[in-house]
Amino acid sequence: MANHGAQADPVDVAVLGAGLCGLTAARELERAGRTVTVVDKGRGVGGRLATRRIGDARFDHGAQFFTQRGPDLAAFVQELEGAGLVREWCRGFNRSDGHPRYWVVGGMTALAKYLAADLADVRTGVEVRAVERTTDGWRLVADGAEVHAAAVLMTSPVPQTLALLDTGGVELDPGIRPPLERIDYDPAFALMVLLDGAGTVPDPGAVQFSASHPDPEHGPFSFVSDNAWKGLAAPSAITLHASAAWSTANWDRPDDELHAELLGAATRWFGDATVDESQLKRWRYAAPRTLWPERSCVGVDGATPLVLAGDAFDGPRIEGAYVSGRSGATAVLRGRTAGS
Ligand SMILES: Cc1cc2nc3c(=O)[nH]c(=O)nc-3n(C[C@H](O)[C@H](O)[C@H](O)COP(=O)(O)OP(=O)(O)OC[C@H]3O[C@@H](n4cnc5c(N)ncnc54)[C@H](O)[C@@H]3O)c2cc1C
Repeated sequence: MANHGAQADPVDVAVLGAGLCGLTAARELERAGRTVTVVDKGRGVGGRLATRRIGDARFDHGAQFFTQRGPDLAAFVQELEGAGLVREWCRGFNRSDGHPRYWVVGGMTALAKYLAADLADVRTGVEVRAVERTTDGWRLVADGAEVHAAAVLMTSPVPQTLALLDTGGVELDPGIRPPLERIDYDPAFALMVLLDGAGTVPDPGAVQFSASHPDPEHGPFSFVSDNAWKGLAAPSAITLHASAAWSTANWDRPDDELHAELLGAATRWFGDATVDESQLKRWRYAAPRTLWPERSCVGVDGATPLVLAGDAFDGPRIEGAYVSGRSGATAVLRGRTAGS
């Protein structure tokens, strides 16, 4: 993985975003013989596949696991199992629905690193400020760097994608723009708590709450997980996600106030242990609430394709991001136009 400055030679495809969707698409495109440059503003790859180190512990603080619901993920899961990268966690945290949930050995970021390792050109720490049309394709404009490409695949959250296209003066087809503008995301807070002793999160190391969960005491949280269960920490490193409703209602409050309130609400999971350290992370675009009405990406401009993909185009989860990435790559390869 490298950080580069300005680029002279155009590539076949520029992929914006090194989350699961962008990395999956880039892999498909390279396998099809295309030259690809992936850019991401994050310090590393992964996007919402995020693992953070605090002391000696690692915390998954974005996605915690992924579910295989449909057949699309089967071959990928088989590959990841073969590489020793994923293990089945359970088939539902509160009650089984039959669909396997997988956790990633080494933390969720390891999945992104695995995909990025085989790609020719992944640039992190590069924030794209505008996406512009050129005479023969596209230009991604970042501070001190440009990427020129015949095609571009954008996997940033849709409101950010639209802002980048607006800044670059790109006008979208009036049939596409309104449904894209309707795509909205729920925010989420993640609280990470390092304990000096064992916490009380029960087997299998996580609890998932919903409106119908029998335990009314879950307070602001929708998911509580002890990273020790994944071998990421000892004795306990707990990630607590605030629900979409709570995060939305409290989004504008200051960090220190939220941090204190969430920490206070989390004590039931600490047992006799004491808090060594805790951190709060804001995810403004945690999960798309309104999706693109068709599956699994949208392509614009057949000659020099612009394709938009990401979990908002197939489902608010890792499986959706993966399916959309593959579909986005196919759309680029076909130069598919909107609605085709
Ligand atoms: C708190 C939380 C918990 C979750 N839990 C689960 C779970 O347990 N199971 C599950 O299946 N899913 C879960 N999800 C959802 C899952 O993480 C996402 O669906 C999936 O990771 C989305 O992948 P993506 O590639 O579409 O988007 P992202 O991972 O968001 O990738 C988009 C990338 O674009 C980059 N980017 C954006 N703008 C720019 C720019 N201007 N310049 C350069 N780069 C840019 C971003 O840095 C980012 O890396 C969770 C998400 C969150 C936040």
